[in-house]
Amino acid sequence: EKQTKRRLWTTSSFQESFPKREENSHKGDHGRGLIIGGSQFMPGSVLMTTRAALRTGAGLLTTASVKDVISMIAGNNPEAMYISTTEKNGYIAGIDNIDLSSFDAIAVGIGIGRREETGKEILPALLRYKGPIVVDADGLYHLKSYLTDFGARQAPLILTPHPGELAALMDISVSDLLLEPFRYSADFAKKFNCYLVLKGKHTIITDPEGNQTVESSGNPGLAKGGSGDVLTGMILAMIMQSKSFFAGINNACFLHGKSADLLVQEKHSEQDLLAGDVIQGIPKAIRTFS
Ligand code: AMP
Ligand code: MG
Repeated sequence: EKQTKRRLWTTSSFQESFPKREENSHKGDHGRGLIIGGSQFMPGSVLMTTRAALRTGAGLLTTASVKDVISMIAGNNPEAMYISTTEKNGYIAGIDNIDLSSFDAIAVGIGIGRREETGKEILPALLRYKGPIVVDADGLYHLKSYLTDFGARQAPLILTPHPGELAALMDISVSDLLLEPFRYSADFAKKFNCYLVLKGKHTIITDPEGNQTVESSGNPGLAKGGSGDVLTGMILAMIMQSKSFFAGINNACFLHGKSADLLVQEKHSEQDLLAGDVIQGIPKAIRTFS
C-alpha cells in the first residue's frame, strides 16, 4: 500500500501556500461561490457562513436560502448576492431554479434542518453539479443516504463533521471514533474519495489518499454554536483561491483557529468569544500570519 503522510500544519505551511493576489486580478479570478443553507428556524447560521466567506476573500458570493433568511442577511451583507429557493414551512424545498454550473464551488447544509424532504430535494440535484462541494452540518445528516453517489463524483468533495456528525455517518459511537480518530478518518476519506475535516480541539484534515494534517490553533472559546458555520464559509472561500484543495482547507482551519487565539489573547475571554467575533478577527489573523 502507498505510504501516506501525517504532519502538523504550521505557520510556515500557511505562509508557503496562502494565496497571493495578482496585481491585475479581477473578482472572477477569486471564485464564484454559492452557499445553500438556512431555514426560518436557523437564520443566523448561514448569515455567518456568508459573512465569513466574504471576509476570507471569495471573489463573488451568492447565498441561496428561504426568503425570510435572505431578508435578514442581505441588509448587513450587501457584498453578497442572493437567490430564494423554493420553500415549504420555512425550510428549503428545492434548488431547481439555480444554475449550479455558473459557480466555481458550493457549500451546502448549514442550518437547513433535518426535514427528510429537504435532503431529497437538495442532494440529488447537487449530484449533477461538476465542481467542488463542501458539505457541513445538517447537510451531513442528509448526505448519509447518498454517500456512495457523492463518493463516485469526479470533482472534490469536502466534508466538515464534528465527531458526532462523523460517528453518525459511520454508524459508530463517538467514543469509539475518538479512540482512533486518525484511522477512522483515513478509512472514511479513502472509501468515499473525499477530503475530511474532523473538527475538534485538534482538527484532523485528511485527503482522499489518506494523507493527514493536524491543526493546532484554536481554543475552547470556539466550543459554541456558530463556530463551525464560520469555518465552512472560510473553507469555501479558500478552496476557490488556492492552487491545492488540501492547502486551501488547511489554511481556512489555520486562520479560523488563529483568529480565535488572537481574540482571546487581546480582547475576549474564552467565555465571551462569539462566532461572529471570529469573523471580525479574520483580518488581523491574515495580517499577522501571511
Ligand atoms: P461546530 O461543532 O460545527 O460548531 O464546529 C466547531 C468549531 O470550533 C470547529 O472548527 C472546531 O475545531 C472548533 N472547536 C470546538 N471546540 C474546540 C476546542 N475545545 N478547542 C479548539 N477548537 C474547538
Ligand atoms: Mg456545525
